Amino acid sequence: MALIKWLGHAAFVINISRATILIDPWITNPLSPYRSVNSFAKEHKSVDYIIVTHDHGDHVGEAIELLSKFTNAKVVAVFELAEELAGKAGATERAIPANIGGRVKLEKDLEIVFTQAFHSSSKGAPTGVVILGEDKTIYHAGDTGVFSDMKLIAELYKPRVALLPIGGHYTMGIEEAVKAVELLKPRVVVPMHYNTFNVIMTDPQLFARLVRERVPEVEVRILNPGQSLEV
Ligand code: ZN
Repeated sequence: MALIKWLGHAAFVINISRATILIDPWITNPLSPYRSVNSFAKEHKSVDYIIVTHDHGDHVGEAIELLSKFTNAKVVAVFELAEELAGKAGATERAIPANIGGRVKLEKDLEIVFTQAFHSSSKGAPTGVVILGEDKTIYHAGDTGVFSDMKLIAELYKPRVALLPIGGHYTMGIEEAVKAVELLKPRVVVPMHYNTFNVIMTDPQLFARLVRERVPEVEVRILNPGQSLEV
């Protein structure tokens, strides 16, 4: 079993293989139920790993403050970014620097693999991430345009759940994200990275309708910020 909680934007808390993983922890984004690291920490007592897909502010979010608050948490990111974030938090020993395409073993039953993402980043390459738990695999696309090698991600890792940006402007919009669903063929897709601010306003119901029409075997789950999905 895995539990996926959306905090708005690209931020998720994922409980999988007895670990708690925070991805792209802008936990005070405008849609988030939390207004501070402290309010988040009241509900979430432990964080084991903080994965950051790239160095833009809306993805790094409160990563440094979180590393200070959760003193067992490790930061997992592309090499340059992991070193920088851990260094700024005064916790270089808690960096897990990695790179695209290599499996990283976090626990006995838990691995991650960074994937490519068509985007930009000042520190290291932008990434997506596949989380391989003991029986569930989840793909968080990060910020990206659609790319045909999503088919390779499908072939190699068979993600059960895909977390895909649909807001456009900086990432895939609805049309491109539907194409991504066709390439990835997950069981479940959760839209993200939309309606946080003006230029990425969109209608997730339209995304759901197009997926139903074109890839009916895939279930779209539109989450409200703070809502969880059990898979
Ligand atoms: Zn970005």
